[in-house]
Amino acid sequence: MKRILVCGSGGFIGGHLTKKLKEEGHWVRGIDLKNNDFNNDHSDEFVLGDLRNPKTCLEVSEGIHEVYQLAADMGGAGYLFSGKNDADVMHNSALVNINILNSARIKKINRIFYSSSACVYPEFNQEDPSNPICSEHTVYPSQPDSEYGWEKLFSERLYHSFSRNYDIEVRIARFHNIFGEMGTWTGGKEKAPAAICRKVAEADEDSSIEIWGDGNQTRSFLHIDECIEGVYRLMNSECQVPVNIGSDELISINDFARMVIQISGKTLKLKHIDGPLGVRGRNSDNRLIKSQLGWAPNLSLGIGVEKVYQWVNKQVQINKLS
Ligand code: NAD
Repeated sequence: MKRILVCGSGGFIGGHLTKKLKEEGHWVRGIDLKNNDFNNDHSDEFVLGDLRNPKTCLEVSEGIHEVYQLAADMGGAGYLFSGKNDADVMHNSALVNINILNSARIKKINRIFYSSSACVYPEFNQEDPSNPICSEHTVYPSQPDSEYGWEKLFSERLYHSFSRNYDIEVRIARFHNIFGEMGTWTGGKEKAPAAICRKVAEADEDSSIEIWGDGNQTRSFLHIDECIEGVYRLMNSECQVPVNIGSDELISINDFARMVIQISGKTLKLKHIDGPLGVRGRNSDNRLIKSQLGWAPNLSLGIGVEKVYQWVNKQVQINKLS
């Protein structure tokens, strides 16, 4: 049994991860600025605290063998690509990463997982929606399309530096659009899959739902269960390079919306409006993770979407009653 710290356990991925770590028999301390929105934090000890504060980081690192660092100032396209939150996103997330690494050094914690993002990949390789290039080695020369991506890239380098100079084992995943039950589905920080499920669930029969842009932009979406499996396997592997954790099932936003509409059984049209978009295409290249871990995600998108639509639909119905 290890004593593990999960930073961001009040969030979507962090909450699910605490459950996995408990199932694997570990003792878990969680920390977050807020309680988990869906009561999905399974940690043995939960600290309501701010990781931008170095003292808090030192305190929660006491007696810990391993850290999973998922805390970040983060949201969907509406939050990250509007430009309105850039200073906060960079300042808050960078401080968390600096503080956590310094605490790990002082407390002699020897292994840390860091959640990076596909947003580190250069914009110029993601202009063709049918053939985006997101192989790990293409990250340099860099040109992420958002400040969020630049902060992730800076922090990847920070983790590597601490690894090199202070002998801390570091594992880094670049997540590609993780979606699932108990994720943010409303309020402005939700990402495309949850937002589309919500719009469909809220729509009246024979009406339409709004899609940002022309909807021909492509993405891949990974269900949370496979994300957690990948994170745990990566952390317990010897892989020292950043790897993609994502699905390689590319789909346009229009087709994704049509998939959700079909699951809902409704007849709905798509109405395209202006909105923050991000790159034209993005897909996970899973060759490296396969070669490093002998494993890669393989759940088909439809199965995950079915589960998540049902869950979001339930939230919408509960919300209507309250
Ligand atoms: P989330 O927003 O649900 O979780 C992040 C949590 O970090 C939140 O609960 C937030 O309150 C907490 N946090 C932020 N600042 C903090 C601070 N100063 N002190 C303590 N807690 C703080 O996001 P998520 O989807 O669970 O993402 C987890 C990680 O994975 C993040 O680092 C994110 O950037 C990364 N990531 C996620 C995706 C995705 O598709 N969900 C994609 C790429 C990368």
